[in-house]
Amino acid sequence: MTARVTLSGIGHSFGDAVALSGIDLDIAAGEYVTLLGPSGCGKTTLLSILGGFLEPTRGRVELDGRDVTRVPPAKRPTATMFQDYALFPHMSLRDNVAFGLRMAGVDRKTRHAKALERLDLVGLKDSAHRRPHELSGGQRQRVALARALAVEPEVLLLDEPLGALDLKLRRAMQDELKAIQRRVGTTFVHVTHDQEEAMAIADRIVVMNAGRIEDQGPPAQVYRRPASLFSAGFMGEMNRIPGRTCTQGVDTPFGMLDIDAPASGALTLCLRPEAIRQHGELSMSGVDLGPATVLDAAFFGTHTRAHLRPDKAPDLTLVAHLPADAPPRAGTILRLSADPADLRAYPAE
Ligand code: ATP
Repeated sequence: MTARVTLSGIGHSFGDAVALSGIDLDIAAGEYVTLLGPSGCGKTTLLSILGGFLEPTRGRVELDGRDVTRVPPAKRPTATMFQDYALFPHMSLRDNVAFGLRMAGVDRKTRHAKALERLDLVGLKDSAHRRPHELSGGQRQRVALARALAVEPEVLLLDEPLGALDLKLRRAMQDELKAIQRRVGTTFVHVTHDQEEAMAIADRIVVMNAGRIEDQGPPAQVYRRPASLFSAGFMGEMNRIPGRTCTQGVDTPFGMLDIDAPASGALTLCLRPEAIRQHGELSMSGVDLGPATVLDAAFFGTHTRAHLRPDKAPDLTLVAHLPADAPPRAGTILRLSADPADLRAYPAE
């Protein structure tokens, strides 16, 4: 069971406060979309509108072309999974998972069979007789997922579903969520403020800022070619290098660069830490960032994270991810370069 979701011109205000404006979004049937953005950007409001818990001030919600804007939650083919799983403590896992089917009037035998099937999907069939307090946080999260999927929604809405889990479990559950979504084929719309989580699970990331969609695309596109400086900053660490458009190219502290610039005037160039190389690793087409002094360096397992002060721009502190093998000492001089393709220019804020 799966459906296409179309949001057109969605706007929502709480009194005078505008929470959402001008949201147009088309989600394909079976797609896994994450709504990513900082606290207060409107993610939960948008999810509530999708689930029917809020009627938008403006705009239209369609599921497979059917207008559901004013259809209440219980009459929509959607299910919502909240961060607070709200499992019933006095019921077995089987009865928790079967609860929605019971409310829908499904007979006992059928709903028990469906509940066991869903518990099997999340790897908890053998625990069907247990109660929620006997489970770990990750297991409870899986029961909540089984329960949401038991009613066979066409669209599953997930609001920070992994927020209560510790980091290791969270990463493991991300993989599981994605695998389960692939197996059931249901459209998933998942709210998070964790960009690593969004990258780990989404077919498409929708970056929101102040009630609007700022950027969207597959994870690699949003990370490597973000549509705005906000999106670039939200998707991960980056270095901001000042620049200015002029007739010969883009003037920067590291010299004149031949890169695409979106506007004339003051620019901010974005350079990811892992795109900074030690000289000699790149061809002659690389941008020479010149010598830089290591301020500090820390071993991170997969890389060494270093703060560097470039001679050519002593006001800047660059963050670089260098190879993990030999962390340089503070005071070491490194010669740095970058590939021009890794430098992206945006109008300065
Ligand atoms: P978070 O990640 O913190 O949950 P969010 O991105 O989900 O944030 P929303 O909860 O959608 O953000 O809130 C968007 C804006 O609407 C915020 O400015 C919030 O204060 C406001 N808002 C949300 N719910 C209400 C409400 N019931 N009444 C008034 N304002 C609200």
